[in-house]
Amino acid sequence: MKSKARIRSLESALYIVATPIGNLGDITHRAIETLAGVDLVAAEDTRHTKKLLSHLGLTKDMQSLHDHNERDKASYLLDLVAAGGSVALVSDAGTPLISDPGYVLVAQARQRELKVVPVPGACALIAALSASGLACDRFSFEGFLPVKSKAKRDALEILKSEPRTCVYYESTHRIVDTLKVVAELLPKRQITIARELTKTFETFLSGPSEDVLGLVASDANQQKGEFVLIVEGWRQEVTNEIGEEPARLLNALSRELPPKKAAMIVADHYGLNKKLLYQSLIE
Ligand code: SAM
Repeated sequence: MKSKARIRSLESALYIVATPIGNLGDITHRAIETLAGVDLVAAEDTRHTKKLLSHLGLTKDMQSLHDHNERDKASYLLDLVAAGGSVALVSDAGTPLISDPGYVLVAQARQRELKVVPVPGACALIAALSASGLACDRFSFEGFLPVKSKAKRDALEILKSEPRTCVYYESTHRIVDTLKVVAELLPKRQITIARELTKTFETFLSGPSEDVLGLVASDANQQKGEFVLIVEGWRQEVTNEIGEEPARLLNALSRELPPKKAAMIVADHYGLNKKLLYQSLIE
């Protein structure tokens, strides 16, 4: 693909440019124009981004910027911007900073009161969430789950009383293990896994956690590629019985206290049945 973008000089700024997460057709017109117009492209992996640029018919000066050199590179790149230049930050796929490098660079740019311009586009979490069928009105993006088993369990345990939809990135090596923990801790909870978004084998699997685990664990093909895991928020089924306000307090307290203690406080406060409250928590 040869770029038809006119190379025009851009306003001096740090541009945060989203690139495709699989399907190259997802690059935006403005991303192409920006990449064509900047003085320098800072990329997580310059070899990877070179392929994208050459697909767009562009040859650019590049610098690598990754987790291990971000602090050192940030001042060099921002000096260029401060001197009137323009720099584009891209990651290997999707939106920079979203489970990708760039935070230090952008934070320092803001501290130095330099202009930072987002050039939005693909992002795996938004693509997955928007097509999942799960509630999108309130959600929490949690990035990658911890690798260590205890820390992963602790992170997922919180979902027992988390009312928001929660979104995670997961790797091919860990997807089955993670689904096992989700099914064990959150039985019957609705989940979606979005695999290989925008690519040939794009797949959405949705249903109760134990069913999705069954589908993935029994099919090696479903374990390949890149994954977004989405877990429906906790629904307070007894809300009607105990009232919305007590249910909210119970939910909030249960994050900090053992279920028995949380149930006792809410029961005392509202004159409700302790057992009913406790039952609703452990269920
Ligand atoms: N910055 C990227 C974004 O905007 O989505 C995310 C980068 S993060 C290092 C990579 C992870 O994002 C993958 O391990 C996977 O969990 C998720 N991901 C990226 N592309 C994906 C795709 N095409 N389908 C499903 N998940 C994807």
